[in-house]
Amino acid sequence: MKDVATPARTNEILAKHGLTFKKSLGQNFLIDTNILRKIVAAAELGPDAGAIEIGPGIGALTEQLAKETKKVVAYEIDQRLIPVLAETMAPYPHVEVINEDILAADVAGGIKTHFKDCDEVAVVGNLPYYVTTPILMQLLEARLPIKCIVAMMQKEVAERMAAKPGTKAYGSLSIAAQFYADAEEVLTVPKTVFMPQPNVDSSVVRLKLREAPPVDVIDEMWFFQVVRTSFTQRRKTLQNNLVGSLVTKEQKPAFREACEAAGIDPSRRGESLSMEDFARLSNELYDLKM
Ligand code: SAM
Repeated sequence: MKDVATPARTNEILAKHGLTFKKSLGQNFLIDTNILRKIVAAAELGPDAGAIEIGPGIGALTEQLAKETKKVVAYEIDQRLIPVLAETMAPYPHVEVINEDILAADVAGGIKTHFKDCDEVAVVGNLPYYVTTPILMQLLEARLPIKCIVAMMQKEVAERMAAKPGTKAYGSLSIAAQFYADAEEVLTVPKTVFMPQPNVDSSVVRLKLREAPPVDVIDEMWFFQVVRTSFTQRRKTLQNNLVGSLVTKEQKPAFREACEAAGIDPSRRGESLSMEDFARLSNELYDLKM
């Protein structure tokens, strides 16, 4: 039988089950096995590895993951797709489909239960674009015992995740992602490989999880608060973004002293600061925390 991701088989499956795409769930299915193999290859999984898939759809990526790994656990929110997946994944008994919202699922518990016999685990997914950032940030913040996340997303979001300081795409999302992982855009994907075609360009990002953050911060929540507030208005200086919101106007002299101690000019813009700069700044500002 032909792979699920071939246009002919996809059309056949859709017609057989009378399926229509739910735009509200970000349903753009992949119909190119070449791209799918590249996504799987980016996860660098051996035969004893396990994979967690986010949003299997009708099983296009699931099937390619199943061919390369020992176990696949796929979380799909759309109940209509469960009987379809039971049929398309029937040749792969090591695939388990869970009908749950990935944002509500106990992924850590699932790893303990399902991947006992696997030597490593990766998360892979052609993500629903409407919830890309919440899904990725939740998985990263959970500090799961996984080696990497390989995810297809809107190109613009991919660029922000992997961006370096001083570039247009660099912002709080870049720092958040790179705090937990080494982020790299590994593949640009044309619209033509999706059914239906999305309105935006897509990219695949590989997030290799770090054992420890690359910077020392006194308080992670405070560090991220400093970062986010520094980018509230991109064109504004650190001082204009931070004084009056993160610290009070009365604290301005202490704020300037903290900047000096961190070696950061308060008239700089957030976009020029590296993660190390933000770590030093947030540590120096910690005493001003309200
Ligand atoms: N993996 C399939 C493929 O590449 O053809 C489908 C990808 S499609 C872009 C996204 C899939 O995620 C859809 O099947 C959608 O129903 C599912 N989905 C959307 N939101 C979800 C959520 N919160 N949790 C789990 N799955 C979700």
